[in-house]
Amino acid sequence: MAVTSLATIAPINAEQQARVLDKTQATLALAEREYGREFPAIPVLFDLRGRCSGMYRVKGTARVMRFNPHIFAKYFADSLATTVPHEVAHYVSDCLYGLAKIRPHGEEWQNIMAVFKADASRTADYDLSGIPTRRQRYFDYRCACQRHRLSIRRHNKLARGEVIYNCRQCGASLSFVAACQVGA
Ligand SMILES: [Zn+2]
Ligand SMILES: [Zn+2]
Repeated sequence: MAVTSLATIAPINAEQQARVLDKTQATLALAEREYGREFPAIPVLFDLRGRCSGMYRVKGTARVMRFNPHIFAKYFADSLATTVPHEVAHYVSDCLYGLAKIRPHGEEWQNIMAVFKADASRTADYDLSGIPTRRQRYFDYRCACQRHRLSIRRHNKLARGEVIYNCRQCGASLSFVAACQVGA
């Protein structure tokens, strides 16, 4: 029987969020220097769930950047170096050309990434274990010290007796409390 240490990915904390905002501003400042115009500050939300690390979205006239606080927590340096400039470049290309007139990762966007000296060729191939996914069903477990959320896959393995999960902090094995649903 396999004994696996449980890795729960907590979202980035306030200090890390502040660093992401700093990086966003610094990246926008690079674009302002390059293109000789201002780009209004854009709201940055840390509410993205699922398999995407970042998203640039326009709803009506409202523009917003959304980041996945769990993926950022797991790959923080990489997210600062690639995901932040990636989304800022979408925003800048929207301001400069209009999203409807260009391909999302086309030449215009790539040129902006070059201004940021960020790697535009790269598609992240992250191991997303421990990252909550959208509309996933969770199962609440307890150890001696805290609550744990297990995915349905892990819950089933446990239920079939294929594995035992032990808490990283206290070392106690987990016992089942309840099933719950986590929305998007
Ligand atoms: Zn993109
Ligand atoms: Zn514990």
